[in-house]
Amino acid sequence: MDDHAHKFIKGKQLRPESLMMSYGYRPEWSEGAIKIPIFQTSTFVFKSAEEGKAYFESALHPDRDQPSEESGLIYSRLNNPDLEVLEDRLTLWDEAEACTVFESGMAAISTVLLELLNPGDVLLHSEPLYGGTDYLFKHILPRFGNKTVGFKAGCPVEEIEDALVSSGASDRLGVIFMETPANPTNSLSDIRACADWARRYSEERRVLLAVDNTFLGPLWQHPLKHGADLVIYSATKFIGGHSDVIAGVCLGSAEVVARIRMLRTFLGTSAGPWSGWLLLRSLETLKLRMTCQMKNARYVADFLADHPKLEKVNYLGHLTEEDPQHGIYRKQCLAPGSMISFDIAGGEAEAFRFLNSLQLFKLAVSLGGTESLTEHPTTMTHSELDPDEKVGMGITEKMVRLSIGVEHPNDLILDLEQALDNV
Ligand SMILES: *Cc1c(COP(=O)(O)O)cnc(C)c1O
Repeated sequence: MDDHAHKFIKGKQLRPESLMMSYGYRPEWSEGAIKIPIFQTSTFVFKSAEEGKAYFESALHPDRDQPSEESGLIYSRLNNPDLEVLEDRLTLWDEAEACTVFESGMAAISTVLLELLNPGDVLLHSEPLYGGTDYLFKHILPRFGNKTVGFKAGCPVEEIEDALVSSGASDRLGVIFMETPANPTNSLSDIRACADWARRYSEERRVLLAVDNTFLGPLWQHPLKHGADLVIYSATKFIGGHSDVIAGVCLGSAEVVARIRMLRTFLGTSAGPWSGWLLLRSLETLKLRMTCQMKNARYVADFLADHPKLEKVNYLGHLTEEDPQHGIYRKQCLAPGSMISFDIAGGEAEAFRFLNSLQLFKLAVSLGGTESLTEHPTTMTHSELDPDEKVGMGITEKMVRLSIGVEHPNDLILDLEQALDNV
């Protein structure tokens, strides 16, 4: 339900953060409640059999033209008020036509790819990837007859094309999937260059570009504006932001999102009303949280940058003009975000001593929440990657990942300082 009228004052469009408390919901629908209630219900009662028939027709054949008043609530695996309002609000940040939410980030990624790929198709993807995505691509999709071909994050399009050609199936390119910035290295891939290449490459059959925007979005990077067809999030991270909900999001054109929503209905990967309600609450403070985290991360990264016990710090705010990644950053990122990884001098023993010494930072996977977290990618989130490949991607025993929260930056630095002193 596009609440178009409520988006404007005197013809001027309001910014997303001004709409996160109200867009898509009217208190008169729920006894004047200022907040949308949790519609904890599995099914919805039809006024008549004719109405039920019309709702099914419109939900399962969105392609057939029909008046919008014939669409309505049926069953919570298909639609639910908390999810519909959430989806409307999420479209605002990325200026997307449509949105669909899932029970996890992995549910979003797997549903999107199962919808877009046919058996025999090639999936081209950036590397490194989040560990769960890497496993899906390398161990599960091949069982459905898909070939997956990786390219190094940030490489020129000629190298992407070479990787595809040497796979021997260059006529079967199905989808391009990009995770930028990449988890855990922060390496960037050029969204615009890849989108333009994909369009040139696939004149007859349109190849779609999907971008996992979990690390910077939806505040600091908007892939749809740079030519991507779909944006995917683990909403467990910044969108949820309080480490208390698992969820995923996919945004894009109404046409493609309708296809993905249909498969979501039949795979049963949609989010439940309680997750939807928690995310609505989270969205109200999204900008506040992400802005605070981004500022804190700069203080922390500045402290880490010249620390004698560290060899290398991966932080987008410290890219230098000479770094080819800097050009990509300038083109598509609005701020450096709040993810940092670094190499500690030594190896696993030194990394573990550091991790075990932290007091304010919690040792846990996940990211983007209000509390600062740290983990050891090669033995935790990225433990299942091919050992040789991951060293090539820079994911070594020395690497530690930080997600910066909303604490006082001096306290975060104090904790890092004492933990590094212990190494
Ligand atoms: C966490 C994460 C995912 C997976 O999301 P879940 O909500 O845990 O299923 C996907 N991509 C990235 C970049 C992530 O950090």
